[in-house]
Amino acid sequence: MVRKFNEKKLVVASHNQGKVKEINDLLGPYGVEAFSSKELNLSEPIEDGETFIANAKIKALSAARESNLVSLADDSGLVVPSLGGIPGIHSARYAINPETGERDFKYGMRRLNDALENKDRAAYFACALSLAWPDGHVETFEGHVDGILVWPLKGLNGFGYDPMFQATGYSQTFGEMNPEEKHGISHRANAFKKLINACFST
Ligand code: IMP
Repeated sequence: MVRKFNEKKLVVASHNQGKVKEINDLLGPYGVEAFSSKELNLSEPIEDGETFIANAKIKALSAARESNLVSLADDSGLVVPSLGGIPGIHSARYAINPETGERDFKYGMRRLNDALENKDRAAYFACALSLAWPDGHVETFEGHVDGILVWPLKGLNGFGYDPMFQATGYSQTFGEMNPEEKHGISHRANAFKKLINACFST
């Protein structure tokens, strides 16, 4: 049996205010107020899982146990099957430029394009969302969006690998789409729809 969310408050296990705002917008209609783990001074656990789902669970459970409130965490990334699934759970790290030590997605996308020479360019974004209760119960949902990796890069919208990713059936990259259009079809939107249908709707 899926456990329903029947609370007024939710902790979003992220120190990223943009993510917390996005989740507040999505869950506001259900009378839920979202706080970030940063606002509550919660610690950031080590994400040592081997899958998006494992890492989303680690983050959600850690925040739920520390805050004693139901907590939501996500973990996401880009997967390229022809390259054995990289960058996968290491998507953020893959884009660190060794010359500067900084995350630099122009560098990360060029690195990926170089690795793709003569390889199949199919890829997908994945997002795992975990909702955890202080008693240790967890509900997890995963969303995907399939596409291909293009070169040269196109578009300045979005973030991360968006200028390189063109979803199946679309002629623009995520970097060219307006945010509403991307949010209608993205891996995160997909996972959220599953979460809302299962845990938030009556
Ligand atoms: P996190 O789950 O917020 O840590 O995101 C992991 C990494 O995956 C990000 O830093 C991006 O590199 C990549 N990623 C996740 N979702 C997206 C997306 O919607 N567009 C582009 N890159 C993404």
